Parts: sequence; C-alpha cells; structure tokens
Amino acid sequence: MHISLYRKYRSKNFDEIIGQAPIITTLKNAIKSGKISHAYLFSGPRGTGKTSTARVFAKALNCSNRNGVNPCDKCEQCKKITLGTAVNVIEIDAASNRKIEDIRDLKDKIAYKTLEGIYKVYIIDEVHMLTNEAFNAILKTLEEPPANTVFILATTEPQKVPITIASRCQRFDFGRISSREIINHLKKIAKEEKIKIGEAALESISRACEGSLRDAISLLDQLSSFCTDEIKIENVIEVLGTSEPQFIFDLAQSLIQGDEKKAVSLTDKAILEGVPSPQIIKDLLWHFRNMLVVKIGSEEILEIPKEQIDLIKSQSKQLQSNEIKEIVKKLSSIDSEMRYHSSPRLLLDITIVDLCSRNAKSQKISEIKLNATENNFNNKIESKEETKENPTIENSTNPTTDVFTTIKANWKEILEKIKSKSPFGYVSLSEAEPYQIDKNGRLIISFKKGFSFHKSRIEEPQNKTLLEECIKSISGKEISVSCIISETQQTNPKTIQSQSISVSDLEEIFDGNVIA
Ligand SMILES: [Zn+2]
Repeated sequence: MHISLYRKYRSKNFDEIIGQAPIITTLKNAIKSGKISHAYLFSGPRGTGKTSTARVFAKALNCSNRNGVNPCDKCEQCKKITLGTAVNVIEIDAASNRKIEDIRDLKDKIAYKTLEGIYKVYIIDEVHMLTNEAFNAILKTLEEPPANTVFILATTEPQKVPITIASRCQRFDFGRISSREIINHLKKIAKEEKIKIGEAALESISRACEGSLRDAISLLDQLSSFCTDEIKIENVIEVLGTSEPQFIFDLAQSLIQGDEKKAVSLTDKAILEGVPSPQIIKDLLWHFRNMLVVKIGSEEILEIPKEQIDLIKSQSKQLQSNEIKEIVKKLSSIDSEMRYHSSPRLLLDITIVDLCSRNAKSQKISEIKLNATENNFNNKIESKEETKENPTIENSTNPTTDVFTTIKANWKEILEKIKSKSPFGYVSLSEAEPYQIDKNGRLIISFKKGFSFHKSRIEEPQNKTLLEECIKSISGKEISVSCIISETQQTNPKTIQSQSISVSDLEEIFDGNVIA
C-alpha cells in the first residue's frame, strides 16, 4: 500500500516542524516548565503545520520516554497517537462532525476522567465549524477545566471562533511557510525517496502552494507517481494547469492600461519564478478568451470559480468586445508562432509591449497624431520646407528624392533613435529598409518575405508614430510611413543593407536578459 508522502514525512517531533520557530520555542518551553494551558488556539492558513504541531504537543505531554522536550515517537502512547487509537487523545474534524450524536459523543468524552499523570488532549480541527451546542460544551469545560485536560483548537478562520472561547485560549498564529523552507524540505524528501526533480520545478511547486507545506508535499507525491523520470517544470505546469490566476489577472490589467513597464516587470518575475514563456501566452490567451465569453454573456460555460468570473467580469468592462477579440486573435497567432520561434522569451516581450500599445487611449492619441502628420506632410512638401539640421537639401528642386536620400543615408541613426525609445520597435525595424517615396509622398519601407510579424509591429500606431517622429527629427520632414513585404527573399539592392541583429545585440537591448 502506498503511504502518502505527507503522512510518511509528518513531523515526529518539535524539531521537524518547518517554519514556525517562535511557536515551537514557546511550546517547548511549556513542556520544559510543565506550565501547560488548558486551551490553545492554533490559527493560520491550511497546510502550515497546525495539526502536526498539535499531535507532537499531545505526544510530548504523554510520552513515557521523552527525549528532552521531544516525544520519542516509539513508546506505546506515541504510537497510539500516531495511529489515532489513543483513548486520551481525541481528534475531531469539526467540519464533518456536526451531527447531534457527534456532539453527544464529544460531551461523553469530555466527561470521562483520565488516568492520573496522563493528559487528555482534544485536537479539534476547523473548530470554527462547530455547532453552538458543541461550543457550549467546550465552554463549560473551559470555565472549570479538569486537571490534565488540554484543548487544541485549530482553525483557518479564527474570526469565526466565539470570543468566549478564543479569549480562554493561548493563541498562536501559524504563518505561511516561506518558499525557501518549502523547497528545502521537498529536496530532503526527494533525496530520501530518490525522486529526481530540478530546482525550477521545485520553485514552481512552492509558488503554486502559497506557503502550504502539506499541499507542496502532496503535489510532489502526485508528480512522482506520474513522472517516471526526472520531474521537470513542464510536468508541474501540466499538473497545475496554469500560472497563478492573480499573476495573469495583474498582467492583463497592465496590458489594458497600456502600462508597458509594469507588464514587462510582471512577466519577468513570472519567468524568473519558472513559468515558461509559451505558458504565459497560453494563460493570457485563455484569460482574454474567458473575458470575451463573459462579455457576450455566456459565462455559464466557464469552468472556473465564481470569484474568478467576477474578477474577469469587472476587468472586461474596461474593453469593448471587438477590442478583446483583437487581443485574442493576436495572442492566438503568437501562441502558434511560439512553437517555432528561436527565442520564445523575446517573442513574449514583444507581444507584451505590443498589446500595451493597443490600449484604447494610446491608440486614439496615435490616430490623432497620424492624421496630423499626414495633413502636415501635404502642406509642407508643397511649401518645400527645408531644415536647419540638413542644409544639404537646401535649394533642392526635387524634395521627394532628397528626403529619401536623407532618410536612406541616416537610416542607421534613425534606428539608433528608435532603439533608445522602443527596443522592440528597433528589433522589428532592423528587419526593414527604406524602399522609396511613393506618389502620395509616403515613405515605403520594405520587409523581407517571412517578416510579416515585424511589419505588423511597425504598423502599430504607436510604433509608426515613433518612427515618423524619428524620421522628422533626422530629416526635418514630416512624412508618413507605409510598410510592404518585398516580393523576393533578397533585400532590395537599391537600398542600404539593414543591420542584422545578433544575440549580443539583443542582450544589450534587453539589458542582458535574453532568456529563451
Ligand atoms: Zn513516546
């Protein structure tokens, strides 16, 4: 029979309890000094060691062969407590013992007197779930506590415990267990059990379990039975299904608000915590897809908790249906592109910044700018306005040719300007070359075949406006830009060669953080 890892590695003494040092010290001192309270209230999130500590404490009180303050875990009392057969240590799960008979049973047990020198310990889990009748029975006992009777009341919701009870207890608040402590403990178990698991997978488990050691051990157990070889982060993601809902919600919010800085830093954090780039895109895709489902009023088809649906609903109010649809489309095409991309992380970053620039407000501003640019262009070409920065084009009879020559000659400089303002725009623009000025006076830039992703990036209003502004600052001309894909694989021989971008360039652009 398979004994669950959680049961197998349950703390046997005070020193094995993880992450609750101040509480353990106090309880050890109580054992040492023999000053035992009649009632303890252990509160804290699930899986943080409340019932394990209660059992160790019950053992320490009754162990016939104590080793200092620690129970031996081998004597009859210790063994019986482990098996749950000790008559003097009564464990009750309040959540599932709410019937009248259960309460009568509890009352009978309380009435039963214990042998001299032996502690009667009641460990009541999820105590806030008890009925009023049961609380009254406990209260009566606490008002006139019999000798050697100890109540250990454990709860995840201490505020629901009647104040008359709580005020008679010595209270301990169990905190969430730190990621580091969870990882170290899992490593120990993995070593003992000969389970192969990488650091990233361990981090991912601990992140998902939000400070609950019990959940983390159960997850390791589940993964070890499911992976025949080393447990990898992909397996963890597979078992868990998704990144943290809160992370995706926050990331979506920063995309909606067009907060590039926040979006990139959130993404970076998730990557460092072990979520793979394609998973982030997938999770975002599902999030916006769910948003669309909620928006069209079909939320009943969603298989997610109601609180999450409510969050999605409130978030969806910030966007129009067609805007959400556009985002879903974009993410879905990136999702398939991810599989073949040589640098998923780079594609993720570009997508994140792209989506930020899509938000309604910035789009509107860009459109206004764009219109203004086009109007100005027509006027200014006619008036043959010249610039101070580029005196060479003075007295020119053909401004169109000269503007193109200037742009072509200064293309590298334009790229540099873009680089400082939009690293992602720079990456895409580096795949393009100035092609010609068309009859409408627009600058046509051409991308090689197969570079439509970069083309559409530059066509984004924000990037387009940025490029036009850079061109203006170099050439002195307000000029509208239009993108094409060149027919041939070859670059246009008439134009200058664009720089090709190497990995070291990327590292420089992204501050040394290119992670595939
Ligand atoms: Zn013992």
